[in-house]
Amino acid sequence: MPIKLNELTLHESIDLLKKEPGKREKLLNDLFNEIDDRESDVQAYLELAEPEELREESKRLENLPLKGIPGTVKDNIQTLGFKTTCGSSFLQDYDSVYDATVIKSLKEAGSPVLGKANMDEFAMGSSTENSFFQTTKNPHDLSRVPGGSSGGSAAAVAADEAIYALGSDTGGSVRHPAGFCGVVGLKPTYGLVSRYGLTAFASSLDQIGPITKDVYDTALLLNFLATYDEMDSTSAAEGRKDYTEGIDRGIEGLKVGFPKEYFGEELDPRIQEKAKKWRGTFQDLGAEVREISLPHTEYAIATYYIIASSEASANLARFDGVRYTSRANTKSIEELFSKSRDEGFGPEVKRRILLGTYALSAGYYDEYYGKAQKVRRLIKQDFDRAFEDIDLIAAPTSPTPAFKIGEKMDDPLKMYLSDIFIVTVNLAGIPAMSVPAGQVDGLPIGMQIMGSSLSEKKILRAGHSFERTFED
Ligand code: GLN
Repeated sequence: MPIKLNELTLHESIDLLKKEPGKREKLLNDLFNEIDDRESDVQAYLELAEPEELREESKRLENLPLKGIPGTVKDNIQTLGFKTTCGSSFLQDYDSVYDATVIKSLKEAGSPVLGKANMDEFAMGSSTENSFFQTTKNPHDLSRVPGGSSGGSAAAVAADEAIYALGSDTGGSVRHPAGFCGVVGLKPTYGLVSRYGLTAFASSLDQIGPITKDVYDTALLLNFLATYDEMDSTSAAEGRKDYTEGIDRGIEGLKVGFPKEYFGEELDPRIQEKAKKWRGTFQDLGAEVREISLPHTEYAIATYYIIASSEASANLARFDGVRYTSRANTKSIEELFSKSRDEGFGPEVKRRILLGTYALSAGYYDEYYGKAQKVRRLIKQDFDRAFEDIDLIAAPTSPTPAFKIGEKMDDPLKMYLSDIFIVTVNLAGIPAMSVPAGQVDGLPIGMQIMGSSLSEKKILRAGHSFERTFED
């Protein structure tokens, strides 16, 4: 057992506090000390709980299942007592007005909030460099990005500045930084976790997901996160389930498909090589490994960026300088809208709004948005067909390890292409989890396990077995 309690996983902390409730103080102190030590380098947080207040709240929750152990929350999720800036200058003074359903559920389960984590502005990006406030660094190499857009959440967990965190995944933003930072990240089935209180980016794709130090923690958190919510019209949870139940059962006899389209030339050859060991691990576990095909994968990036930008252009129309915070100083109402938006949004957000507005405009709708919707369907059908024959799909989370800060900032297309393996599951609405799967030159590599709709238990079981068996 480590001496620094902030290094524990959530389930280890719970076990410890069951035996020695007095250690709760030390756990909180160790977290704040680690943050003091590392935060000036890592810059994962935008806001932290006031230590005394957190101690009191944690004490109040100590008899609940999560024992008063706090979690860290991406700054696009409404959290009372904190701001919700979405990493944007527009919302830099915006105080949360209620608790998102996920925050409410976690508090009811006994977990208060330690702080709000940095992110790409409005969750648009793959590196957390698009934050208005700061660039979070990868704790494994401070000259590199932590991935995005939930880079603050993943970096905080990887640096032991958090026990666990929440992120949001519209096109990979939980899995991408989890992979780059060497932690676990789950994008649940669309609708399984309530979006109420998550600032909308692309509503047909957005899902909140946990980022944790091991797979068991993700299962444990899902027990509280996956609840039916009448405040979310797309809520698909059927009541509570125990996602930890049976997680130890192994995966003997399961069929795991490796899609050939995810192992093409864009994949770093060192990850290509690593994947041989992934296959070997699944075989050692008694699973059957097969090569499969997801033929429409090559259209995923174009499809995702048309759909996500279109929905974003509509969702972000609410930031007009009248509602919410930032307001430009102008005389006419029209100028108020345009100047507030010009001053409030950063370049990537503007790019998406322009792209989305264009794709939705009269005369172009069928050519772009309509067509993207059709291809989305084909991508979903690829998965549906694959899951007729196999149980799970395994593939790299990203084509490369974490890249250097600044490396892709001048070339948006290059940045978008780093999402090539992760946007497909959002388009299909299915779940996927990134688990640590070795290192290349000291940098973590993530492997995704994808499953059919609502197959989280199977994914968790496979991830848990893989995590225990895989040797780099
Ligand atoms: N890189 C994706 C994008 O920029 C990630 C979005 C997300 O999952 N929040 O759109």
